[in-house]
Amino acid sequence: MKNKNYDAIIIGGGISGILIALVLSKKNKKVIVIEKNNIIGGNCRTYEINGYCLDTGPHIITSLINGPLIELIKKYFTVIPRFSSINTYYVRDNEKLQEFPLTLLQLACFDILPKKERLIMSTAMIDAVANSSLNKNVLQKSVYNYMKKYNPSKKTLRLINAISYFLSGKSMKETPTWRLLGGSGYIDENNRNKKGHFKKFIKFAKHNYLSQGYPLGGIQSITDCAVNSIPKNNAIFKLNEKVIKLIAENNIIKGVQTDKNIYYSDFVIYSGFMKNLPDIIDNLDEKYKTELLKLKQAKSLTLWLGLKKKLPEVSYIGSEIYFDADVPFWAVPVSNFDPHLAPENKQLIGFTTIIKNDNTTETVNKLKDTIFTAMPSIKDYIEFEHTQITIPEKAAVTVGVEFPSPKSPIKNLYLVGTDTDMRSMGITRAAYSVAEALRFIKEDGFLDK
Ligand SMILES: Cc1cc2nc3c(=O)[nH]c(=O)nc-3n(C[C@H](O)[C@H](O)[C@H](O)COP(=O)(O)OP(=O)(O)OC[C@H]3O[C@@H](n4cnc5c(N)ncnc54)[C@H](O)[C@@H]3O)c2cc1C
Repeated sequence: MKNKNYDAIIIGGGISGILIALVLSKKNKKVIVIEKNNIIGGNCRTYEINGYCLDTGPHIITSLINGPLIELIKKYFTVIPRFSSINTYYVRDNEKLQEFPLTLLQLACFDILPKKERLIMSTAMIDAVANSSLNKNVLQKSVYNYMKKYNPSKKTLRLINAISYFLSGKSMKETPTWRLLGGSGYIDENNRNKKGHFKKFIKFAKHNYLSQGYPLGGIQSITDCAVNSIPKNNAIFKLNEKVIKLIAENNIIKGVQTDKNIYYSDFVIYSGFMKNLPDIIDNLDEKYKTELLKLKQAKSLTLWLGLKKKLPEVSYIGSEIYFDADVPFWAVPVSNFDPHLAPENKQLIGFTTIIKNDNTTETVNKLKDTIFTAMPSIKDYIEFEHTQITIPEKAAVTVGVEFPSPKSPIKNLYLVGTDTDMRSMGITRAAYSVAEALRFIKEDGFLDK
């Protein structure tokens, strides 16, 4: 029996689902967002414990000058999130902290690596970009397979491996070379399959810190601003309701069945894991299903440390990678961006690493050992600890894997989220997928052109 009619049903109330709900409701569509948890936001939330405001993983938002998130904010948000205007990436070894080399010029001065190694890295990068115009497969090779002919040192490989993990979620043996060059801003990711990278590459003197920032108030401020911008008469949120089946007839989507209800609509947007799509829809094309099942996920562990007072070694506004260890970390001292995230005069730092096996306790202990090696005095400052285990992106960018397009093979079923667009990372990637899905929704006649 028909329960209620909507223009669109949105499965999942994470940032992807909320962004698309915002755009559609502003365009006068009646939408329903169905979220299986008792709270919206998915991986884009902040919660408080003992006066510390903890994001669901440390976040730095990319492409804030011209990117897809800022476009959506400009066009559709009535409540605007604020971002810190300063952000610098650093690399630490046991001797020093140095800016991450975002340009070839900075790489030449990056003396965390010996001169010979810097030369190897620069040569390898120039070769990769120059040769990619002649042979596209160069950028599709794994970073390791590409680099090995240059015979880099163990330390250089460790740095490259750590960057691969932080940019793609997988090791340098699984990460394609284009991802490393694109994610670090060396080539244009929007046009990774087109020629002409070299032209941009030789302008390497320009770096892109200015387009990155931390959302003041915590990551949830983006979710809250989006939700508060949604016209309430056009949107309904259902919490604690899980979509268990998509209802389709003759390959056209009609609605969804949840564990509590059935809903019908003109079109449906799915923002859960694409890997799980075959579980909730019958008769999905076998070839499409095989491709979805190839998607690989990475699991991350974040250790939040609350410090009684500010640690002098971590006084910068930005984030750092420590790479010279079995468990490398990315650390973000979020209270340096926004002091309100920690009690007065205290400091909050998030340390994230990728979990390579299922032994969480072992990873936490190894991560702590690495932190204590990198910043020995931190031991005396810690007054609070909190661990999170999360999946940072719904699919890792790996060699030989393509993500599904936001237009699914089921008519009027659209897909959004970090496993439907390979560009950029995290929330920016989610926003790209939303913009792309909207393009298809328009093309299919559900929105005015
Ligand atoms: C440790 C960590 C660090 C990160 N760092 C950054 C960063 O620096 N910069 C950045 O931009 N991003 C970062 N991210 C990534 C960013 O948080 C995510 O990309 C983004 O929040 C994903 O949003 P989403 O809506 O696509 O997915 P999700 O947040 O996963 O939302 C999907 C929602 O759908 C719901 N759902 C799924 N299936 C169903 C169903 N069948 N029925 C009903 N509901 C369903 C889920 O419960 C969930 O709420 C990081 C994430 C982590 C964990």
